[in-house]
Amino acid sequence: MNAPHPYTSQAGDFDSLARRSTEQLAQLTQQLQRHTQGEVLVSQADRGRYATDASIYQCMPLAVLVPRSEDDVVSALGICRELNVPIVPRGGGTSQCGQTVGAGLVIDFSKYLRRVIDLNVEQRTVTVEPGMVLDHLNAQLKSHGLWYPVDVSTSGQATLGGMAGNNSCGSRSIAYGNMVHNVLGADAWLSDGSLLSLGRFDQSQGAARHLGERVQQLALQLQPDIERHWPKVLRRVAGYNLDIFCNQNVRPYTADGSVNLAHLLVGSEGTLALTRSLTLQLSPLPRAKVLGVVNFPDFHSAMDATQHIVRLGGPHLSAVELVDRTMIDLSLQNPAFAPTIRTALSPHINHGQPAAILLVEFSGESKDPLLPHLRDLVTLMGDLGLPGSVVEMVDDSAQKNLWEVRKAGLNIMMSLRGDGKPVSFIEDCAVPLEHLAEYTDALTEVFARHGTKGTWYAHASVGTLHVRPILDMRRDGAVKMRAIANEASELVRKFKGAYSGEHGDGLCRGEWIRWQFGDKIHDAFGQIKQWMDPIGLYSPSRMIDPPKMDDERLFRFPSTYRVIPIETALDWSAWNVTADPVTETVSAPGTGGDPAQGFAKAVEMCNNNGHCRKFDAGTMCPSYRVTRDEQHLTRGRANTLRLALSGQLGTSALTDPALWETMDLCVSCKGCKRECPTGVDMAKMKIEFTHQYKQHHGYTLKDQLIAHLPRYAGLASQLAPLLNLRNRWSWLARLTERLTGLSAHRALPAWQSTHAFNTPTPGVDIATVLRAERGVVLFVDTFNGYFESDNARAAYRVLEAAGYTVHVAHRPDQHLCCGRTYLASGMVDQARVQVRQLIDYLLPLAQQGIPIVGLEPSCLLTLRDEALQLGLGESAHEVARHALLWEEFLDREHQAGRLETLRSQLTPAQAPFLLHGHCHQKAFDLVSPIQRVLALIPQSSTTLIETSCCGMAGSFGYDAKHQDVSMAMAKLSLLPTIDKHPDAWVVADGTSCRHQIDHGSKRQALHVAQVLARHLD
Ligand SMILES: Cc1cc2nc3c(=O)[nH]c(=O)nc-3n(C[C@H](O)[C@H](O)[C@H](O)COP(=O)(O)OP(=O)(O)OC[C@H]3O[C@@H](n4cnc5c(N)ncnc54)[C@H](O)[C@@H]3O)c2cc1C
Ligand code: SF4
Ligand code: SF4
Repeated sequence: MNAPHPYTSQAGDFDSLARRSTEQLAQLTQQLQRHTQGEVLVSQADRGRYATDASIYQCMPLAVLVPRSEDDVVSALGICRELNVPIVPRGGGTSQCGQTVGAGLVIDFSKYLRRVIDLNVEQRTVTVEPGMVLDHLNAQLKSHGLWYPVDVSTSGQATLGGMAGNNSCGSRSIAYGNMVHNVLGADAWLSDGSLLSLGRFDQSQGAARHLGERVQQLALQLQPDIERHWPKVLRRVAGYNLDIFCNQNVRPYTADGSVNLAHLLVGSEGTLALTRSLTLQLSPLPRAKVLGVVNFPDFHSAMDATQHIVRLGGPHLSAVELVDRTMIDLSLQNPAFAPTIRTALSPHINHGQPAAILLVEFSGESKDPLLPHLRDLVTLMGDLGLPGSVVEMVDDSAQKNLWEVRKAGLNIMMSLRGDGKPVSFIEDCAVPLEHLAEYTDALTEVFARHGTKGTWYAHASVGTLHVRPILDMRRDGAVKMRAIANEASELVRKFKGAYSGEHGDGLCRGEWIRWQFGDKIHDAFGQIKQWMDPIGLYSPSRMIDPPKMDDERLFRFPSTYRVIPIETALDWSAWNVTADPVTETVSAPGTGGDPAQGFAKAVEMCNNNGHCRKFDAGTMCPSYRVTRDEQHLTRGRANTLRLALSGQLGTSALTDPALWETMDLCVSCKGCKRECPTGVDMAKMKIEFTHQYKQHHGYTLKDQLIAHLPRYAGLASQLAPLLNLRNRWSWLARLTERLTGLSAHRALPAWQSTHAFNTPTPGVDIATVLRAERGVVLFVDTFNGYFESDNARAAYRVLEAAGYTVHVAHRPDQHLCCGRTYLASGMVDQARVQVRQLIDYLLPLAQQGIPIVGLEPSCLLTLRDEALQLGLGESAHEVARHALLWEEFLDREHQAGRLETLRSQLTPAQAPFLLHGHCHQKAFDLVSPIQRVLALIPQSSTTLIETSCCGMAGSFGYDAKHQDVSMAMAKLSLLPTIDKHPDAWVVADGTSCRHQIDHGSKRQALHVAQVLARHLD
């Protein structure tokens, strides 16, 4: 386990704090529970989830408070003061330098304290609580034509309190400045409990005025030192903003030259005060943007050209952002990003394989006046010897997609497998533009000397390029980190840059503050800390008395990090690899030395960037969307698994009940599989976990009922009238709930006496389909076959009408099943048996190239996903290559011009369609085929519902314990949208989605096959 934070503060020695922790924790917990309404989290797992942020560090807090109100914060402050427990404030926890990692009480502002307090559209100001997320604020401002323009890449996760804490900077800082340039005021609690209102110095009174005068005096005394040592660049975020009284930034901190005392808090990283509210300067939302993507044949020329592009830019230039070759390649390997990045590549440079691209954006009131700027850019690049290098993007959605890829930069890089990862410690040094090319060349050489390399991207316009050398922190990473930092700092000094230019100081750059500013200014920072937090209660041992950046006692992966050996049920060997940082070659699967056979390494892919804390389009992560709990977040789950696998939650590894709680609300939607930039696939991890857990704790009756459903369904269907009484007699439903845990408030799928498996199988036999010109195999799953056999018939009918020779997969002696119910229950061995039988049946057909189509997304896609990790060899891959969803197959055929017969038979639509995509369809990017197939129906119009998971998710929503969460997921957007469209036909391919819709809106949703069949002549 990691050591507790080893540093001392006046508020308490963390070592002794940890030794006293049982007593301390009991007192703290008791008092917080008694005097606050907030959530008090004290379990080892809860604390572990708050022990990390997006940095390389880890430090167990004593406890976590999630305050529900300001009063809770004030009470907690009093309690901590009394007990001498340090406070570490936290927003989204996306800091990269360990700012939110610390012993003491972590206060998470992000869950409840996230309101807009006051919006003044005329004055263009807004006052917000600190836990408000930037994107959520901007969504509220949009209708007023306003936005808050500090557009950090983590805009969907970053809270305004955290952004102010770090003095964050966005991609468009060249036009709008950093956080410090856009904060007008702050109310904050000092550690003595007093509330300070910080704003314009000349209008300040009382304690704020007094503080301002002291800081002013200090600044005036030190003016010559400030002028000598302060980097003269836009991007300097180290230390406290002592220069508000003699501004050294290339952009004035205020429009009118006044001094604003709130700027003292900006960038103070929670070390001076707890922010209660922030007043922000808003900007008009640019109505139009155009983008020129400049492709470069080599990296140096991109760096050299930046200064010329910035000079050309003028007032409409809003961004110049770099993406280098490695990142282009990684994006091309990512299914979500590949199509977008291709749109940015010019065929005229290195045959479409540029060494780097610069995204050059111009913004203004309308597009037309911006177009000449694009033309000037094209001319400039021609003059610089690069004709044909600019891809012009005027279309808004194309630009938006490309910005998403750029914003995912760090995450894309972190998708490297193996223990070597890009490490943040010199990732945001800022140098003047005229030195950018020389600086990047020199630093690249430094990396090479230390046997590593870095990927360059981000804010070229302001000389802040992100670069992270790939280091293995469990082995020689710390030594290399120190050596590289030393050499990088020399370069920064040579070019008169800022060592800390964007992400803050935290644990990794605190020690460089003295280096950057000299002793006197550093001591002045200590003085400011002393004035504002004399008892050292707030995030001690950071900007003042910081630890060494390479103190491995603070690492998430110290050299002592060990993984508990486990025998995995699924094959995780693809993650069990090592990668060479220079050549990027990856060793063979299974050779990475993971005692958990690759499972631990898969879990460790989560770098804590927090991208899963999102509410926008996409699926990830539905359980967090309704609970807003760190525990019920992909990141929270990955952290808990990591802690368990490395013995930090005790010796019981994956069998601890705390793990069950964490994994319980994961609906296995696979949203993270697609949307987590580092590819954390929690649905698959849940199968492995459930297997491990249930092996130890045993299976419940409910588990057995769900898992074995495909086996007993034939028998049960014979008792259909009897079993269906459960849905009619509420006392029986209640009794069933008591016996099985299946919610009495839900109707269970109704059994059919006559179903697809006890009526004559339509279609041809195997020999015939193998000979057929247009043969296809229809795989009827348990759910559509036993409960909604009309869907299977409809699918068959449409295929036949389209001219296909259909073979319906069946074995008289055995029900063919994909094993999904066993996988969901963690019975991996039984699932393997089922899948093997199915694959044995399908293999000869697949080998002859016959498409295998299925109706239920979660069943059919099992063949393309989990089936490949069951150790079934090449035959599983062969079948997977031919397995298609029914509509995916039709869409493919349509693209090939082979659906004319079907089209000619389709009658016009009778109503608009409202489409809900199943989560697994979304995870495999398979929603658009449904839209295209529906479009075959004459006069049809389809609206896609922007949904996350419907909340039913297989058997999840039937569980009485999940009923509320399940309905909350459905009510996020699915049910309200359906209610708004009473005349539409609701289309949903997932069995459980249809049941949830039926339950929540009393509307019958249809499988797309049914929709087409109902439109056949
Ligand atoms: C993938 C990725 C991309 C990023 N891109 C950018 C980028 O483009 N630009 C950029 O500037 N940064 C970037 N960051 C860093 C980080 O996202 C930003 O600094 C962000 O603003 C932090 O917001 P947060 O809510 O996560 O804050 P946290 O990380 O939770 O906290 C940040 C600091 O604020 C303090 N704090 C939080 N709440 C309070 C409060 N109420 N009172 C006092 N102090 C408080 C914390 O103690 C901490 O010191 C990136 C990080 C990642 C992982
Ligand atoms: S699970 Fe993925 S998206 Fe979430 S924090 Fe981890 S790496 Fe980021
Ligand atoms: S599978 Fe879905 S619910 Fe589970 S962690 Fe991933 S996004 Fe969240």
